[in-house]
Amino acid sequence: MHNQNPVFIPGPTNMPEALRRAVDMPTMDHRSAGFKDILHPALNGVKQVLKSETAEVFLFPSTGSGGWETALSNTLSKGDKVLACENGMFSQKWIDMCQRHGLEVEVVSVPWGQGIPAHRYEEILSADSGHEIKAVLATHNETATGVVSNIAAVRAAINAAAHPALLFVDGVSSIGSMDFRMDAWGVDVAITGSQKGFMLPAGLAIAAFSPKAAAMIETATLPRWYFDIRDMRAGYAVNGFPYTPPVGMINGLKMSTEMLLSEGLENVFARHARIAEGVRKAVAAWDMPLYAQSPELYSNSVSAIKTPEGFDANEIVTLASEKYDTAFGAGLGQVAGKLFRIGHLGSLPDVLALAGIATAEMCMKDLGLAITLGSGVAAAQEHYRTV
Ligand SMILES: *Cc1c(COP(=O)(O)O)cnc(C)c1O
Repeated sequence: MHNQNPVFIPGPTNMPEALRRAVDMPTMDHRSAGFKDILHPALNGVKQVLKSETAEVFLFPSTGSGGWETALSNTLSKGDKVLACENGMFSQKWIDMCQRHGLEVEVVSVPWGQGIPAHRYEEILSADSGHEIKAVLATHNETATGVVSNIAAVRAAINAAAHPALLFVDGVSSIGSMDFRMDAWGVDVAITGSQKGFMLPAGLAIAAFSPKAAAMIETATLPRWYFDIRDMRAGYAVNGFPYTPPVGMINGLKMSTEMLLSEGLENVFARHARIAEGVRKAVAAWDMPLYAQSPELYSNSVSAIKTPEGFDANEIVTLASEKYDTAFGAGLGQVAGKLFRIGHLGSLPDVLALAGIATAEMCMKDLGLAITLGSGVAAAQEHYRTV
């Protein structure tokens, strides 16, 4: 057991040492004057990462899933209709949450591995002349399949239908790793968590509301208490929280946004694209397909790799853990056993990416797959050496 090995899962990610230290701080009285110097820079930092001038950012001691619930419960009422696409396990779970909240979900199902079909959204919204659909849900990066959907196209579909529905975007595995433009894309609620692009431990739900979405709180009747943005807003107004805030996590978020913004968001996205492309070059050298069905869908935060028919991909994940003390992502839901995932978001320099690719090769060779050791590593080396 080394305990120091990097992980290659799409969250929680590897933590930069500076962020680990930022989270690990002595107890601070959250009602003392010092808390505001942690809270407000963290909120402002998130707003900048989201490329928003007008969003109101809320942080809850929770995870990304709590962000989903924040979006729904503050804006909608029982029986409201929402439009959503199911293209992987995360989008499926969000739909399940809507249904359990008593919302009526119009589900556009596509084969896993595909993105959100914006033209289908446009057709459905255009046909909804009574504007019964109150919100459109979009999972920006479907982490289960390594598929990124085009949110600008979803916004264009809503506009083309001249539909007033709110746009809720799950950016849990894209925000901080891939381009995200809250204002330009007209996103009404953007959702993420602390343990993906922000490179922190799990523990924060992050939800940013447009003024239009925040105004819905006045009419929305879904039950809420813990996730009520009015209580949270009232807390922030007096430099506090409606309950005990996880001060260390918020301090970590402050530092994380400082790191991302000082590197420059476009540089952060280019870094992710470059690392991801090296992984994809390795996968191509293994002669294995990605689960994402076409190149414009390839995610820069996670690659889902389809293993040959009849082979149990979970064995790769188990062997990596037991023999090499290294973590890869398993297939989730209906793709369990059919794929394994290499997470490549957050802090992952070339050296670590190459180590992950090398370890995946050892596992696949151990399990009898036709892999030439070093083939994927060499392809990735060539990419990292020259790009
Ligand atoms: C990780 C993830 C979630 C769930 O977040 P939790 O922090 O585990 O609650 C939701 N959506 C996507 C796309 C994710 O990658």
